[in-house]
Amino acid sequence: MRILKIQTLRGPNYWSIRRHKLIVMRLDLEKLADIPSNEIPSFYEGLVEALPSLEGHYCSPGCRGGFLMRVKEGTMMGHIVEHVALELQELAGMSVGFGRTRETATPGVFQVVFEYLNEEAGRYAGRAAVRLCQSIVDRGRYPKAELEQDILDLKDLWRESSLGPSTEAIVKEAEKRGIPWTQLSARFLIQLGYGVNQKRLQATMTNHTGILGVELACDKEATKRILAAAGAPVPKGTVINFLDDLEEAIEYVGGYPIVIKPSDGNHGRGITIDIRNSDEAEAAYDAARLVSRSIIVERYYPGRDHRVLVINGKVVAVAERVPAHVVGNGRSTISELITETNQDPNRGEGHDKILTKIELDHNSYQLLERQGYTLKSIPPKGATCYLRATANLSTGGIAIDRTDEIHPENVWLAERIVKIIGLDIAGMDIVTTDISRPIREMDGVVVEVNAAPGFRMHVAPSVGTPRNVAGAVLDMLFPNEHSSLIPILSVTGTNGKTTTTRLLAHIYKQTGKVVGYTTTDGTYIGDYLVESGDNTGPQSAHLILEDPTVEVAVLETARGGILRSGVGFANANVGVVLNVSADHLGIGDIDTIEQLANLKSVVAEAVFPDGYAVLNADDHRVAAMAEKTKANVAYFTMNPDSELVRKHVEKGGVAAVYENGYLSVVKGDWTHRIERAENIPLTMSGRAPFMIANALAASLAAFVQNVTIEQIRAGLKTFRASVSQTPGRMNLFNLGQYHALVDYAHNPASYEALGSFVRNWNTGQRIGVVGGPGDRRDEDFVTLGKLSAEIFDYIIVKEDDDTRGRSRGSAADLIIRGITQVNPNCRYESVLDETAAINKALDMAPDNSLVVILPESVSRAIKLIKVRGLVIEEVEPQ
Ligand code: ATP
Ligand code: ATP
Ligand code: MG
Ligand code: MG
Repeated sequence: MRILKIQTLRGPNYWSIRRHKLIVMRLDLEKLADIPSNEIPSFYEGLVEALPSLEGHYCSPGCRGGFLMRVKEGTMMGHIVEHVALELQELAGMSVGFGRTRETATPGVFQVVFEYLNEEAGRYAGRAAVRLCQSIVDRGRYPKAELEQDILDLKDLWRESSLGPSTEAIVKEAEKRGIPWTQLSARFLIQLGYGVNQKRLQATMTNHTGILGVELACDKEATKRILAAAGAPVPKGTVINFLDDLEEAIEYVGGYPIVIKPSDGNHGRGITIDIRNSDEAEAAYDAARLVSRSIIVERYYPGRDHRVLVINGKVVAVAERVPAHVVGNGRSTISELITETNQDPNRGEGHDKILTKIELDHNSYQLLERQGYTLKSIPPKGATCYLRATANLSTGGIAIDRTDEIHPENVWLAERIVKIIGLDIAGMDIVTTDISRPIREMDGVVVEVNAAPGFRMHVAPSVGTPRNVAGAVLDMLFPNEHSSLIPILSVTGTNGKTTTTRLLAHIYKQTGKVVGYTTTDGTYIGDYLVESGDNTGPQSAHLILEDPTVEVAVLETARGGILRSGVGFANANVGVVLNVSADHLGIGDIDTIEQLANLKSVVAEAVFPDGYAVLNADDHRVAAMAEKTKANVAYFTMNPDSELVRKHVEKGGVAAVYENGYLSVVKGDWTHRIERAENIPLTMSGRAPFMIANALAASLAAFVQNVTIEQIRAGLKTFRASVSQTPGRMNLFNLGQYHALVDYAHNPASYEALGSFVRNWNTGQRIGVVGGPGDRRDEDFVTLGKLSAEIFDYIIVKEDDDTRGRSRGSAADLIIRGITQVNPNCRYESVLDETAAINKALDMAPDNSLVVILPESVSRAIKLIKVRGLVIEEVEPQ
């Protein structure tokens, strides 16, 4: 077996609209291509021995053990690799289930598709699955040690890629609400939502969080002063910078017991509480000094430690934090009890699990001593033995939910205090003996206010009800259901994508909105180019969707990008499919036009149910996508008598129709005439039918998004397909006595479309300079020749400079074969060099003629025309 290619999909794709995260592995089974699993000696046994848990895979039989049954009876190796790749991820703690395996047109080569949670782990699992299966084929087994290593590596990849627990909680909740999120490339920033409606997060700080509030909260002494001035209960204390001042400070706070802590620490670092004598105080001073220059000396307030979480002005959760401890069983030593406690699978390192493993520090021994223990003591059954003084989860503490118990006065106080500090999300630490009674009565205090508080203790408390605090964050950031999104209009088809995308963007600009759009020529925002290049894939889509100035996204969505990584968004508001015709067949395992239609159909299907698929009613493969999409359907047609469209409109549907020389929207009993084709420059005075079709599609897409007829009309009338705007797309030049047209038509359908315009050229001879890219199939060149013979009076056959691997002259021969098949008397000649061919045509052009050039290099062709003296570019031919 050999892996030929591994692709990583990240959005709606050819294989699934709903499952975005898929690995597509192109696998050459080589010798195994003709051998089903039952014919490989002891393969079944070897597989079961290596991965007994495959028993859990149902597969087509639909019951436990279903897949293994298939292996026993005989199935292809690609299918087995798929299941193994899924199982390896499962064993490493990543729950995945979706897989498909399909043959390709190349014998023995399969596409193995399976789900992943982490990209790198997914690709790793694919490679490991091939290794495992190959080893069982060759040796009857896969060494246990190797499998264990695979799973460890997979676990590492999964852990490295995972977000912190608070961020994780927020993005999970965002996914539930259909709010898109992405991780930006720096500073752990998370973007939620799109375009102008996006919001940002970094752990639990948002773009609403003010820097003044954060800095105040980080300075514990300043926080206390501001709160004391507001009458809030805070610990009596002072700040010192020198050990010499310690004694005086202790006196000032009223003597022992005291607390010493760094003035800007967190996570309990450098803090010692319940200090009872000067030796302890000096040691505590030194410990605090390691963290901060300024040291806080405070009175110690006995009580329990509470974290009150306030989001957007409201208390949303309260947790009591209990310091790391063990409970005696009458048999084990404290040391043994710690080991046992740390074996709890819920306890991990740092913040990666709900709880953290208990670790002892220098204070722990002192604390044990005060309780009359050492590590070797055996505490009596039921006795609690504290191991850390402070209650941070990150030092092994646990959390108990107290949200329903907090006294209303404490709620009022907490909400007021967070307003005073000025934070949108804050965690307040309150020490009091009973949170269900007003803290003033209990002599409780507010110890500090935290910016960016952790959510772990609230979403996964050790005891009590988990609280959806992430929901409160999202309620604050996105108060309305759809307020995280911007309209996305995505455009696909074999021909006319760029033109339609540009036109649609131009129409949308009439609404005054900032439009971001991507095309084969580049990415644009408003009137400016952001980046040039073939930008029709998901990365370009992301650039637009992540841009905080963009209000509407119009995205040319081409075949290549969908195939390579899926589309760049989960749902569009409008998905336009212009046409499907033979082009690029044989590339990327898309071999038939039906497969191509399925691929383009992704654009029609990845639309919100309340959005629209805008479909070409005149192209049966496109019209059929209405069956597949869950969205509303709107049709466009060049045929005012279209039966399909008539029925659709009768049922209340909306359509755009070319009727009596007008582009019109039909809805219910009404026909809204937008504009006469003649008055729309893009349609070349109504002579280019395919441009009318593109204009119908763009108008309809805008209409279903509530752009007004007046705005659509204004857009249609002012859009010009000039050389500068759309080079190589129907660029018409007036050379005085004759005209020249440069177009980048490069497949049979676009030739045909072009032909429909050329045939409307009534004044004189039609000369064609034709050829095509060398990597197309032989039959495509013959078709090209046939079409040329139907369109032109005289044909000059040329070839590209880059023959893309074909022998020089062979493409021309095929074109000529096509020409003579259709019209044996057709006048043609072959001039292989493109420059010579173009010059020849321009030299020979008689008066009133039209020279149509289909060049490899558009810019060179335009130069060759322009050197011929006074040339007027006709964007609005008369
Ligand atoms: P975190 O970042 O986890 O909130 P921190 O390092 O910022 O911790 P503090 O919140 O100031 O430190 O203190 C940690 C814990 O120590 C408090 O939650 C409380 O339980 C205890 N504590 C701090 N100061 C006092 C005090 N004056 N009296 C009683 N207990 C205190
Ligand atoms: P690409 O796949 O190269 O990005 P595209 O789909 O973006 O192409 P355009 O750049 O808009 O298409 O147009 C390319 C050529 O296709 C045009 O110059 C014209 O010859 C032809 N064309 C445009 N619209 C249509 C259409 N609706 N039907 C058939 N051919 C068309
Ligand atoms: Mg604290
Ligand atoms: Mg394009």
